[in-house]
Amino acid sequence: MVLADYHTHSSPYSPDAVSTLEEMAAGAAARGLTHMCVTNHVENCSQCPSAHGQFPPFRDWDALRRDFEAVRQKYSGTLDLRLGAELAAPHYLPEEGRRVYSLPFLDFVIGSIHNLRDSEDFYYMDYPRDFELFRPTVERYLEEYLTLAKSGLCDVLGHIGYMRRYMARVGLGFDMMEFEGPLREIFSAAIERGVGIELNTSGLFGPLGDFIPSREVMRLYRELGGEIVTVGSDSHTREKVGLGIREGYELLRECGFRYVCLYREHRPEFRIV
Ligand SMILES: [Zn+2]
Ligand SMILES: [Zn+2]
Repeated sequence: MVLADYHTHSSPYSPDAVSTLEEMAAGAAARGLTHMCVTNHVENCSQCPSAHGQFPPFRDWDALRRDFEAVRQKYSGTLDLRLGAELAAPHYLPEEGRRVYSLPFLDFVIGSIHNLRDSEDFYYMDYPRDFELFRPTVERYLEEYLTLAKSGLCDVLGHIGYMRRYMARVGLGFDMMEFEGPLREIFSAAIERGVGIELNTSGLFGPLGDFIPSREVMRLYRELGGEIVTVGSDSHTREKVGLGIREGYELLRECGFRYVCLYREHRPEFRIV
């Protein structure tokens, strides 16, 4: 059976990652994964006016490819390694987004929204106690996912509801199903264009204690006819690579999915889950 982590970061290519690509691969093999996709941050388009210092545009493809190829060969026969990217908000700067998406050596691109056009990464946000004050922000965030789904600049929509991970740290949260209308629109647009969604397991073992998006949202996507799902740990350290993937597959089965996807040349490969 396939056990594939399709969202991993590695040092030095992702500035917030701790472990090297080699260490991530070793961790993945030790945890019994069959596949791992390397998806480092590419924040070239995110237009984040951050006071905290945005990640610099990623240009180090040659070094990454050399490193990746060496590790890929070392693990061939044990772990199927593929090269992808987590491309933040490619539709904010569509020309640059298109350039990155089209790089011929990338098999897979996660489209993620970490910040709205005029604000900081949700990681740094001060969340109001009163959710009604935050509701318009979530609405704008979901509008951006709708545009992203229609853009043709990513293969899957990454971690929809990302801010829940950070709200949980200060004891706040909300039910994504309050936004069922916008979610239906996003999923219908994605399904029509062959764009998938990601089930992100990074919140499972932290304060959030849940998947991103939640089970109910995954079920909605399935009910609307969605079939393309990747599962990723969003790990930045060797210790976390592959965490929650088995639980993610269990959730997919419970929600009626028959397949999980791998990617080659931006095309999904369906594997029984
Ligand atoms: Zn992300
Ligand atoms: Zn990530």
